[in-house]
Amino acid sequence: MYLRKRALERLAREKVLYERRPGGDISVCVAYPNIYRLGMANLGFQSVFHIFETDTLVAAERAFLPDADERAAMRKRSERLVSFEEARALSDFDILAFSISFETDYLNLISMLRMAGIPTRRADRADGNWPLIIAGGSAVFLNPEPIADFIDLFLIGEGEEMIPEFLAKYHATRATRLRALAEVEGAYLPNYFTPIYDDRGHLQTVDYSGPAKPKVSRRLIRDLNRFTTASLILTEESVFGDMYLVEASRGCQWGCRFCAAGFMYRPIRYRSPEHLMNEARRGLAERSVIGLVGAEMASVPGVAAIAAGVADAGGRLSPSSLKADCISPQLAAALARNGNHSVTVAPEAGSERMRKVINKNLTEAEIIEAAELMLGEGVENLKLYFMVGLPEERDHDVREIAHLTGQILARARAHKKSLGHVTVSLNPFVPKPWTPFQWDPMEDARATKRKIALLRSDLAKLGPVELDAESPREAYFQTLVSRGDRRVGGILELLDAARCEGAGEIWQELRRIAREGASSGLPDPDFYVTRHYADDELLPWDFIDHHIHKWFLLSERKKAHYEHQTPPCDVTRCVVCGAC
Ligand code: SF4
Repeated sequence: MYLRKRALERLAREKVLYERRPGGDISVCVAYPNIYRLGMANLGFQSVFHIFETDTLVAAERAFLPDADERAAMRKRSERLVSFEEARALSDFDILAFSISFETDYLNLISMLRMAGIPTRRADRADGNWPLIIAGGSAVFLNPEPIADFIDLFLIGEGEEMIPEFLAKYHATRATRLRALAEVEGAYLPNYFTPIYDDRGHLQTVDYSGPAKPKVSRRLIRDLNRFTTASLILTEESVFGDMYLVEASRGCQWGCRFCAAGFMYRPIRYRSPEHLMNEARRGLAERSVIGLVGAEMASVPGVAAIAAGVADAGGRLSPSSLKADCISPQLAAALARNGNHSVTVAPEAGSERMRKVINKNLTEAEIIEAAELMLGEGVENLKLYFMVGLPEERDHDVREIAHLTGQILARARAHKKSLGHVTVSLNPFVPKPWTPFQWDPMEDARATKRKIALLRSDLAKLGPVELDAESPREAYFQTLVSRGDRRVGGILELLDAARCEGAGEIWQELRRIAREGASSGLPDPDFYVTRHYADDELLPWDFIDHHIHKWFLLSERKKAHYEHQTPPCDVTRCVVCGAC
């Protein structure tokens, strides 16, 4: 069979770096709601699969969203989605566990349930012998509500301790499991929570009918060194196929006001230099590039020595992101050894004023100095990462992106530093739950497009600079699922059906729903995307306790308006936001 052949070829090409154990009696299919090459590049998915697979209670397999050509073939032959390892029907498993890192994959989750022949809505599974459908991952951590009608149980938070607790409880209490599972800290059973909306469609209250306490408290691991998060299954086909990935930290000390990772994973936790170096050594036996993963990698304790150690061994450290003012000469030198020709620096905003608004704590001089440092060490290609459509932004701030890029080019030319590709990567701002900008709307797509055009014309005057801009239409969908409530699930179902029938693109479907208004039976997507949420409004994700005070987020939002910065976290003394 064509689909099976590809799965078997992929399995044969994988290298598993841990010992597989004989399975237990709970069958779990761990599903990634996107295609194989993306799923296998995701450390979160790999770690969750490993936790399930090495639990003695469990026999685990994987499932992915089929590739586009596989989906077309399945449709043509009316084939069902099956597990990756053994081609078992997904409906045969005891548990189907989705690991979701990106909220835009919520749509794929619904598609996968449909392709597996499993009723998508929880209510429609009530009478049958269907698997328990669970979901976790950073997307549901932030806001699970758009898929709350499709999932039986969410695990909110980091899974290393929570998943084994959940499995033990599931194993011990099969007969009465749903009520018992609510006792697992971090478990969220949406069936027990009923949102009530007022006449204007705003969330008024959430009725609770479950056995345990109504607040869902997200779980975190205090000491990351107790657990290793690194590549466990290698395959060339993964988008990071040439790398061995090692997670260095969770959270971030800098408090950029747009960044979900910097707030949801608070407080910042680093793995020790010894732990990271050991993992890097293990990785070097498999790959010459060690991908260091986390929100901001230049602040990782001992990172310059780790980069030097990797370079000494003939490899190369590739950090996911570097804060410009934290790049030391030693780090720049170590990163540039052994053929590293490209580096990404993320100023995020072009003007000094906007960097104060977003709390970037970074000056133009520091950005130019960092670029110069990297170029001086032999790095040739620079990727500069910015956002557009940020709260409080004016046209002048966007044009400053071109000005800053021009400054870097001029400095490189003045020092006759060889410069290869300079890419300006531009992403429309998407407001994220649990950040100080959660109340802010996404900028109107037409306004963002106009700003992108403005910047494109300014950059064109600089010469060889490439602009790589994400479509505001894609950002619109991301904002919808990021800030949506439970009613957005109906929109996702419609989008899935339209995609299945080969109807219009997501954007066209969303505009059609907005045009049809109440007659569509669905909420207006603009209600979630372009509306300013009121400061005192009950937000769809407020029932989750992230251990961050709402007043703190509001005060950060006010400071953004007045262009005031907040110093980075000092976890030894500070208790201000509530996370420490
Ligand atoms: S309590 Fe202070 S140090 Fe801890 S995460 Fe919050 S702001 Fe940062």
